[in-house]
Amino acid sequence: MDFQLSEEQRLLQQTVRDFADRECKPLAALWDREARVPDDRVIRQMIEMGLVGMCLPPQYGGGGQDLLTAIVAIEQLARISPLCAAAVFESNVGPVRVIEFFGTPEQKQRYIPRVCRGEMQISVGMTEAEAGSALTDLRTRATKVAGGWRVDGRKVFCTGGGHSEAYMVYCRFDEKAGARGIGALLIEKDTPGLSFGKQEQFMGMRGFPGCDLIFDGCVVPDENLIVAAGGFGSLMQCFDIERCGNATMALGIASGALEVAAAYAMERKTFGKPIAERQAIQMLIADMATRVDAARLLVYRAAVGSQSGFPSIRETSMAKVFANETAKAVTDMAMEVLGGYGYTTDFPIERMLRDSRGWPLAGGTLQIQKILIAATVFGRTFDQRK
Ligand SMILES: Cc1cc2nc3c(=O)[nH]c(=O)nc-3n(C[C@H](O)[C@H](O)[C@H](O)COP(=O)(O)OP(=O)(O)OC[C@H]3O[C@@H](n4cnc5c(N)ncnc54)[C@H](O)[C@@H]3O)c2cc1C
Repeated sequence: MDFQLSEEQRLLQQTVRDFADRECKPLAALWDREARVPDDRVIRQMIEMGLVGMCLPPQYGGGGQDLLTAIVAIEQLARISPLCAAAVFESNVGPVRVIEFFGTPEQKQRYIPRVCRGEMQISVGMTEAEAGSALTDLRTRATKVAGGWRVDGRKVFCTGGGHSEAYMVYCRFDEKAGARGIGALLIEKDTPGLSFGKQEQFMGMRGFPGCDLIFDGCVVPDENLIVAAGGFGSLMQCFDIERCGNATMALGIASGALEVAAAYAMERKTFGKPIAERQAIQMLIADMATRVDAARLLVYRAAVGSQSGFPSIRETSMAKVFANETAKAVTDMAMEVLGGYGYTTDFPIERMLRDSRGWPLAGGTLQIQKILIAATVFGRTFDQRK
């Protein structure tokens, strides 16, 4: 078993790290305070560096890299702030992958090059007020009309809502209950009948737009059908790529918090000595470092396992649970290391702590991931409705 990154991956890691320190670090607090998306100038540089769409197929303008390589880049950006990694995340592990895996050649040609050029961000609209963890209860209806589909319903908590150029919308296509009636349509932002609710004010992840998608007689042509009814399993399989990305955002937060805490501990003196010399602080730092490394190994394992297509449910869910819990624990420990200063906005720890709380909720809660893990241990599924 080889635990080393390739020479190219190490070079990319260092390049992205330097870029994040130079271009994102000075602005991360401002973007958080003003809840604004990263500057266009920064996004353009990421496109020029080949980070946007780096995993997408080269024939559609992508970089043709594997998932692990994108994960390495996302971690380095998320180390400063997950917001810095948003464009790289969406274009490599987001719903555009559904088009790559299940779209027709025409659909791929229509959308993937635009994503790679940074002209189109695609968000996912799955969750509804009565269908969060119980996603297969979703009720947004797609009704057949001449030449297309009429969509009616409402999605909640859509990250990128109102900002992204297109939405992968999970719909119920016929009267069949549960998963069997579910498929997905791609709906562009300016389609008549689509409007947006108020922007959510989250505790963290500020700068990630998020709102309801409201569909009222919204008609899209037949060619926007990406996954037909009955394809819910395929959608979830592909969503495990996004869950690996979610775990990487959490990993990035945790490794960033560790760096800040370690640097602070070497500078801050109490009773005439740097606190790094106190064993109590060393124990905290050692625990943080061990958890970060363990989370990284689980995330990398899940990503490497996707080489043959999709990452496994078990490895992805383990990576997500552990990385999500690590980010919460490590930012909390980092705040202890910084004492009162960690609680101020002069240091990034309070922002990292707030951000760490969002990722365990987005992409499926910890409890739901643990149910999936348990199913692989017991070798059977547990029907939550019976
Ligand atoms: C920051 C953020 C970003 C998001 N981005 C998106 C997005 O881009 N697109 C999108 O579609 N959605 C998005 N979501 C929605 C997210 O996927 C849901 O919030 C999540 O799946 C949980 O659903 P819920 O909030 O309805 O909680 P509920 O399903 O109501 O769950 C409430 C609690 O009950 C637990 N629970 C539920 N069922 C069970 C069970 N059977 N066994 C044990 N425990 C259970 C849950 O784990 C949780 O602790 C986002 C959410 C957040 C917070």
